[in-house]
Amino acid sequence: MALELNVANCPNCGSVFQKNLRNLCTKCTRQYDDELNRCLSALRHDRRITTDKLIEKSGVGIASITQFFRDNKILLREYPNLFYHCELCRKPIRTGKLCPPCTTGINSDIHRMNEEEKKQQEKLVRENQMSFRISDRLSRK
Ligand SMILES: [Zn+2]
Ligand SMILES: [Zn+2]
Repeated sequence: MALELNVANCPNCGSVFQKNLRNLCTKCTRQYDDELNRCLSALRHDRRITTDKLIEKSGVGIASITQFFRDNKILLREYPNLFYHCELCRKPIRTGKLCPPCTTGINSDIHRMNEEEKKQQEKLVRENQMSFRISDRLSRK
């Protein structure tokens, strides 16, 4: 009988554990379930709860709560006042990783930065040529 060493590092705490479907070590699985249960029971009492109140009532941090949203353990559409933060500007959002302005803003920002850089470079080249010519003329005299 072959002993299969099917182990991995827990993505949450880094400790080595026997691989499983949850992809979390036993300790983290227990913590995840415990935090989720506390959130769910707070939500059961108040469907219109806000994220701040949920953090306060459940004692669970925003990182874990955001994870529950991502894992669809807590369905945002069922709770009108829950949200999490845009990863860029921290604005409250309810879908995706970024708010709509950041999603579109990033691209135009990069574009603008490239344009600025190009202009800056051209200006530098022009200035260099100019000063070169001047010093050239000066040295000839
Ligand atoms: Zn762990
Ligand atoms: Zn944003």
